[in-house]
Amino acid sequence: KFSYQNRLGFGSGNPTGKIPLGLKRKGLRIVVTGGAGFVGSHLVDRLIARGDSVIVVDNFFTGRKENVMHHFGNPNFELIRHDVVEPLLLEVDQIYHLACPASPVHYKFNPTNVVGTLNMLGLAKRVGARFLLTSTSEVYGDPLQHPQKETYWGNVNPIGVRSCYDEGKRTAETLTMDYHRGAGVEVRIARIFNTYGPRMCIDDGRVVSNFVAQALRKEPLTVYGDGNQTRSFQYVSDLVEGLMRLMEGEHVGPFNLGNPGEFTMLELAEVVQETIDPNAKIEFRPNTEDDPHKRKPDIGRAKELLGWEPKVSLRKGLPLMVSDFRQRIFGDHKEGTT
Ligand code: NAD
Ligand code: UDP
Ligand code: UDP
Repeated sequence: KFSYQNRLGFGSGNPTGKIPLGLKRKGLRIVVTGGAGFVGSHLVDRLIARGDSVIVVDNFFTGRKENVMHHFGNPNFELIRHDVVEPLLLEVDQIYHLACPASPVHYKFNPTNVVGTLNMLGLAKRVGARFLLTSTSEVYGDPLQHPQKETYWGNVNPIGVRSCYDEGKRTAETLTMDYHRGAGVEVRIARIFNTYGPRMCIDDGRVVSNFVAQALRKEPLTVYGDGNQTRSFQYVSDLVEGLMRLMEGEHVGPFNLGNPGEFTMLELAEVVQETIDPNAKIEFRPNTEDDPHKRKPDIGRAKELLGWEPKVSLRKGLPLMVSDFRQRIFGDHKEGTT
């Protein structure tokens, strides 16, 4: 029978399914749903570089072919245009499930989190693959505990405008644990905190992409509310490292993956001004409903059990994103660049 353990070449001699660290192994067959998106495409780069065969499943809802185009022609890379809300048959060892309309302008009214996750869990069960869910810090809602530990159950409005996303991910976590307990599927759960970097959607309304695009276009930075709400911003390479350690490790989680450096939106605007344009103006706008007042991960569990912590600070990571945005907004020619 095809199974994750057999594929690693240990068979029943390694009933725990753990990969002995440092042991050279055969390349794995890995599905990355949402692999044409921001985080997914960076993960795909690392997996391909490691020698694995990667199948990206994406419906290009928010992802882009350009993010993975550099792998076209590589026999270890396949791209399937498919909506994970529909069943899918594949034979693989690991499933990184990232497919999800991830930003407020995209996530409303979409059943991906529930139906898509169910299908990918069904797939994992059928082929004996290990399944990793990318959940979110939004499962903590507008948190009453600060910083947030994985043991916190959250403060979520079940009928609010954001509930399709946060309750959707909470349901996805529930399904994941049910398949683990009920069907013995090997699962991993990551709760990802705000992440930024190259290839982020330019116009999806997230704060870092908005501020960077606005500063480059010489438009005012739009701060919602009084700008004193906080977030903790993680550079994408740190996240990818955490996701891979989680997948390869022996712990189910959930694990918070985020950078504990906490900033108010006004402080973020200042860092963007320092990095791009000290003269960029700030404009205040009404805040959205149910906006969490503060958010900062407690990453003690990931440090201890995965040996992971972020390495890239906001001031180091932001310039790397800015060069990508500059390129995408202005193209190769120098128009508008400073
Ligand atoms: P993204 O929008 O760039 O990537 C999501 C990808 O999923 C896109 O390529 C999109 O086309 C694809 N997709 C959406 N619905 C699909 C469907 N039904 N079938 C197939 N493909 C579909 O977003 P991202 O920031 O890369 O997020 C990746 C994952 O990480 C998501 O699950 C998201 O919820 C989670 N996450 C991200 C952040 C963050 O700050 N970026 C924070 C918390 C959680
Ligand atoms: N599924 C899938 N690919 C597979 C196996 C299952 O997409 O290789 C889907 C299947 O269509 C179903 C879901 O995953 O909608 C859950 O499958 P499971 O076998 O757990 O449940 P069942 O089909 O028995 O209700
Ligand atoms: N925000 C802002 N200006 C913008 C976009 C967002 O001040 O142009 C604020 C938003 O109100 C929230 C924070 O930035 O308080 C983070 O928003 P984002 O949508 O990036 O992430 P999330 O709310 O999902 O953490």
